[in-house]
Amino acid sequence: MKTRILIIEDEEKFARFVEMELTYEGYEVSKAHHGRIGLEMAESGDYDLVLLDVMLPGLSGMEVLRRLRRTSPVPVIMLTARDSVMDKVAGLDSGADDYITKPFAIEELLARIRTVLRKAPALRPEGQVLRSGPVELDVASRRVSVEGTPIELTKREFDLLQFLLENKGIVLSRETILEKVWGYDFEGETNAVDVYVRFLRGKIDEVFDIKLISTIRGVGYVIRDE
Ligand code: CA
Repeated sequence: MKTRILIIEDEEKFARFVEMELTYEGYEVSKAHHGRIGLEMAESGDYDLVLLDVMLPGLSGMEVLRRLRRTSPVPVIMLTARDSVMDKVAGLDSGADDYITKPFAIEELLARIRTVLRKAPALRPEGQVLRSGPVELDVASRRVSVEGTPIELTKREFDLLQFLLENKGIVLSRETILEKVWGYDFEGETNAVDVYVRFLRGKIDEVFDIKLISTIRGVGYVIRDE
């Protein structure tokens, strides 16, 4: 299987150049030109390594990294525009594995990629596990357990729980949840989200006597880590 690299970089010409070089080296490359989209792609668990630009539209590189680290240990190399000590320190503090200052020689980037990949544990075979307190959700095997006890969820309940766990700490509106979990073209009851949150609480919160999903009145729902 080819090693998959995601480039999150808004300078399209530069991203294309890096893509070309990496493809030539035998890597499988995907690109995102926007912070938010890049974050979503990086969180998918489909990549072995992420090249992340610091200056991005939508979400800054630092913010992408901070959010990504809540759910994913995927190796990240930050691309900093200037030789700024602050960026490096902040990046490494936020969980970047390495950084490289633009402009750089492609050979230097390749060397850093090889080093970071060598140090990184194999990510994909084990799959991504999302957690909150005693709740564990295995993305690949679609299994959920609470305090080690497996629980049965329907497809929709699972997708909803996964989305809430992926965005742990972020208050999500009903509209956002509908859009992401049910799809943009959903045309049913708008209280579907409330109904499914109730299902999840019935299977998790009530059975295990925990408070997993919090209601934010007038806004939506959030899973907070206690
Ligand atoms: Ca940029």
